[in-house]
Amino acid sequence: MSTHVRHAPDGERAAQAVPPAVMLPATLEEAVSALSAVPAAVPVAGGTDLMADVNSGHLRPAALVGLGRISEIRGWSYQDGHAVLGAGLTHARMGRPDFAALIPALAAAARAAGPPQIRNAGTLGGNIVSASPTGDALPVLAALEATLSIAGPEGAHRELPVSHLLAGMDILRPSEVVGYVKVPLLHAPQTFLKATSRTGPSRALASVAVVLDPMRRGVRCAVGAVAPMPLRPLEAEQWIATLIDWDGDRSLAPEALTAFGEYVAMACIPDPLPAGPEDNPGPAPQLPPAALHLRRTVATLARRGLGRALA
Ligand SMILES: Cc1cc2nc3c(=O)[nH]c(=O)nc-3n(C[C@H](O)[C@H](O)[C@H](O)COP(=O)(O)OP(=O)(O)OC[C@H]3O[C@@H](n4cnc5c(N)ncnc54)[C@H](O)[C@@H]3O)c2cc1C
Repeated sequence: MSTHVRHAPDGERAAQAVPPAVMLPATLEEAVSALSAVPAAVPVAGGTDLMADVNSGHLRPAALVGLGRISEIRGWSYQDGHAVLGAGLTHARMGRPDFAALIPALAAAARAAGPPQIRNAGTLGGNIVSASPTGDALPVLAALEATLSIAGPEGAHRELPVSHLLAGMDILRPSEVVGYVKVPLLHAPQTFLKATSRTGPSRALASVAVVLDPMRRGVRCAVGAVAPMPLRPLEAEQWIATLIDWDGDRSLAPEALTAFGEYVAMACIPDPLPAGPEDNPGPAPQLPPAALHLRRTVATLARRGLGRALA
């Protein structure tokens, strides 16, 4: 899936013969100007996703606009109860304790994102714009209902919910650059758990982010890697929030945690519908074993994630 407008294939073919020109702007405004001046240019941050596409021959950009020298997007600031995160924050930076104290689930996702070389170079903005189903930051941003701040030509600026970009309801327009990601500061426990197919850094088979929102007496949950975009099991969220004693110790019985896990998993990986007509539906088809295993994995992650958030 691409969150960018595609460039003309002719331009790509013409660019194959010569190495791409590289521009290194120092501000977001300069980056947008560079992209406007060379419409076939592509922004590159850490290059961990983009250069893999270039090396495999899937992408031949005529020019690259490197975002690595834009210091304004490599840190964060605060605004109206939100953290405004620069799109150039690396996974390594987000994994550090000072960031973890602010947005624990995003820090946990950053620590889980690939091996150290990838975490040192890969950025939050790149993770979002690549929109890979296995992007570890994505379920966290979906659960936090984060918003993108996007810079465009002629000083234009717009805000876009991350979930709209990931769902393909909107895309980045030509010359636009993601500058910041606005995340609410909830001052409450939040978790991110990821299951992989092997020990050590690896892409997620499934991941679950759980965020408590005591002000709104809400639980927000998003499941990653089991669909093209993170899924929000809204009914499960609403149901479990009614069981929590928000003014008390917030603990839940193990049975309630288990039921939450199963509710989340069933919502994200539902049973297939019977094939026949409504009045004579026939036998219910079974999920294949791999999907049943994935559903059990999601149930376990959601149960543990909520249990840890409430502990
Ligand atoms: C071996 C390996 C293991 C990996 N493991 C994981 C993993 O476990 N979990 C995980 O989540 N990811 C993983 N990744 C993917 C990757 O590291 C992340 O998605 C990373 O966050 C991408 O960021 P980047 O800065 O490198 O993006 P880039 O490669 O620089 O860019 C990716 C895309 O985003 C666009 N872009 C980047 N920044 C902006 C911006 N500010 N505005 C507009 N467009 C922008 C680029 O044009 C490009 O289309 C792995 C990658 C590799 C190669």
